[in-house]
Amino acid sequence: MTEPLSTLSTEVLIVGAGPVGLFLACRLAQLGIDFLIVDKRLETVKHSRSIGIHPPSLERLAEMGLAEAFLAKGVKIAGGQAFANTRPLGRLSFEHCPEPFNFILTLPQFETEAILEDALLQLRPEALLRGLELTDLKQEESYRVRFKTQADTKEISASYLIACDGKDSKVRELVGIPFYGEAYPDAYLMGDFADSTELGSDAGIYLTDDGLVESFPLPGGIRRWVAKTDTYIQTPSLESLTSLIEARLDHKLLLETNTMLSGFGVQHFLASQFVKGRTLLAGDAAHVLSPIGGQGMNLGWLDAWDAARALEAILKKGKAPKSSLQAYALKRKKAARTAIARAAFNMQLGRKTPFAPLKYAFVRLMLNSPLERLFARIFTMRWL
Ligand SMILES: Cc1cc2nc3c(=O)[nH]c(=O)nc-3n(C[C@H](O)[C@H](O)[C@H](O)COP(=O)(O)OP(=O)(O)OC[C@H]3O[C@@H](n4cnc5c(N)ncnc54)[C@H](O)[C@@H]3O)c2cc1C
Repeated sequence: MTEPLSTLSTEVLIVGAGPVGLFLACRLAQLGIDFLIVDKRLETVKHSRSIGIHPPSLERLAEMGLAEAFLAKGVKIAGGQAFANTRPLGRLSFEHCPEPFNFILTLPQFETEAILEDALLQLRPEALLRGLELTDLKQEESYRVRFKTQADTKEISASYLIACDGKDSKVRELVGIPFYGEAYPDAYLMGDFADSTELGSDAGIYLTDDGLVESFPLPGGIRRWVAKTDTYIQTPSLESLTSLIEARLDHKLLLETNTMLSGFGVQHFLASQFVKGRTLLAGDAAHVLSPIGGQGMNLGWLDAWDAARALEAILKKGKAPKSSLQAYALKRKKAARTAIARAAFNMQLGRKTPFAPLKYAFVRLMLNSPLERLFARIFTMRWL
C-alpha cells in the first residue's frame, strides 16, 4: 500500500513542474538528491510559449545526457538575416560560436516539457506528484507545506523549498519576497504558419518603419511570426496578423496553414531576493523578462543548474548552507538583471522611431564588422 501523502517528507521540495522545475528535478535525480516535485496541473499546457533553446542550455542538457532527445526533435537556427523593411542589412551568424552547439534550437515549449517529464519518469518516477496546489506553508525546523487536491488537503515536510511556480509564485508570496517591475508599453501578435519564405534555417529579423517583425523556423516546416503592434490585441483575427505582415514585408502568409495565433503584452519583474532562509527562487518565480530575444526559460534552466550545484554542495559535500545559497542568489540575480537589460535592448531596436535611418545604419555596421561575433555571443545567451 502506498503511504498517505500527509506523512510524506523529503529533503528538497520543488513547487511547479513547468520547464524549470522539471529540468531541476532531472538534475537532482542524477545527483542522487532526495526530492519531490509537485504541480497543481494534471498535465502540461499545450499553448506554445517558448521556442528558442540557447547553447548554454544545450551544453547543460548534454551533460545531463538529454541533448540528443532535443536535437532529434528541434530545428537548428544557424543565424539571423536582418532587414530594414525588406532591404537586407546583413546576417548574424552563430556558426563561429563555440562548437558543438553553434546554433539556437527551436522546439515548442510543450514538447520541451514532454521530453523533460519523460526523462524524469525514467529517473525517479515516484518523485512527480500532479494535481496538488500549494496553498500554505509554515517554516519550523523544516518547511511544512500544505496542498489542496481535488479531494482533500495534504502536507509535505521538506528541509529546502525551491519555487519554480512561475511569475505569480505562491511560494514567493508566502515567504514574503517582493517582486518589483512593470509592464512595458509594447505589444505583439504571434502566429505559426507553413514556411513560405526563402530563409531556410535562418531566423528573419525585420526592422520596419512600422515596428519589428521576426520569424523563426519550427519543426514540421512551420515558421513562427512575431510582429509588434500599436496596442495589445487580446483576441486577434488571422487577418490582423497576415495583413500586417503583408503591409510591412509584402509577404503573404498561408492563411489556411495557421496552427497558433495569439497576442501578448510584455513585462519585466525581478525578485528582491533569490533566497530567503532555505527557500530558493528559480525561473519565472524569480524573474520575468520580455520574450523578445527568447531568454526566459533558458535563464530559468541556468538558475536550476546552479541551484542543483548549491544543493549538491550542501547535501552531498557538507558545505555550509549559508555561503552556498548566498553565492547562488548573487550570481543568479546578476544574470537576471543582465538578461532583462538585453531583452529591453532587443525591444528598443524593434520600436518605431523617427531616427529609423540611423538605426538601420547602426545595425548594418554592427553586422558587417568584427562586432558581429560579439553580438552573436550575446544573442546566444553567453555570460549569463
Ligand atoms: C510568448 C512567449 C514566448 C516565449 N518565448 C521564449 C523563448 O523562445 N525562449 C525562452 O527561453 N523563454 C521564452 N518565453 C518564456 C518562458 O515561457 C518562461 O520563462 C517559462 O515558461 C518559465 O518556466 P517556469 O518553469 O519558471 O514557469 P512556468 O512555465 O510558469 O511553470 C510554473 C509551473 O508551476 C505550477 N504552479 C503554479 N502555481 C502553483 C501552485 N500554487 N501549486 C503547485 N503548482 C503550481 C504551474 O502549474 C506550472 O506548471 C516565452 C514566453 C512567452 C509568453
